Amino acid sequence: MANKTKRAIVTGGTRGIGRAIVRELAARSCCGVLFSDVAFIYNSCDECADEIQKEVGTLDTKIYAFKADASSFEDAQATIEEAIKDLGGVDILVNNAGITRDNLLLRMTEKEFDDVIDINLKSVFNYTKAVLKPMIQQRYGRIINIASVVGLIGNAGQANYAASKAGVIGFTKSTAREVASRGITVNAVAPGFIETDMTAKLNEKQREALINTIPMSRLGTPEDVAKVVGFLSSDEAAYITGQVIAVDGGMTM
Ligand code: NAP
Repeated sequence: MANKTKRAIVTGGTRGIGRAIVRELAARSCCGVLFSDVAFIYNSCDECADEIQKEVGTLDTKIYAFKADASSFEDAQATIEEAIKDLGGVDILVNNAGITRDNLLLRMTEKEFDDVIDINLKSVFNYTKAVLKPMIQQRYGRIINIASVVGLIGNAGQANYAASKAGVIGFTKSTAREVASRGITVNAVAPGFIETDMTAKLNEKQREALINTIPMSRLGTPEDVAKVVGFLSSDEAAYITGQVIAVDGGMTM
């Protein structure tokens, strides 16, 4: 499969880390190593979807946008079917869509818990299940799940989020074991704190406290994460599976 056009699907591709991943996978079409057409899924921001299609799409790289709720099993099946038709197949899946609904457990509502589990964890089941058959048939695939260091070490006020991301890690390792013999790798990337809309809610005091826990003394950029996803989705990463790669400035070393 080396040097052939790769077909990638990214959930949550409109903003933050997902947007950087769409750019990274598409940009690889200029460097002669990996050529990717990309379909991305988003939930609400139509202008963001238009913007990224205009910005990243070129004559060489096709970018397709699909509006769907990643937590819906039916939407995922229909979306993947459409995306595979447009792309002509699927080689790479990046499960990136995610939300936070932070609250201390005593105050956390059932809806805050369910929404985070459904969008962060169930979506990974939905999309992975939908791509697995075609990947098994072609005996090739790269699946990268965006977890979080919070799924490794926990975080007060994020019991729902930590549970969803720890779930993603368990799902990654189990799936990796199931499909390793079929030429499919499944890995997780665990970002630390990254500059996106998700962390824009932090006030100055919270940011400073956070930065004091990071040996590299800065928040990460979406590109810091996207580069690792780009590598894990390439042929160079063929012998890496079931791993969790932290991209966190040394926070959890
Ligand atoms: P973000 O800037 O808030 O972007 C979230 C993306 O997910 C958007 O493209 C959004 O689409 C999409 N999305 C949200 N709900 C969706 C749904 N129900 N169905 C489909 N798409 C949906 O978030 P981010 O910071 O880039 O985070 C991306 C991933 O990295 C998440 O899984 C997050 O948990 C993880 N992560 C982030 C950090 C961090 O510090 N930022 C750290 C560790 C892990 P719309 O634009 O249409 O809403």
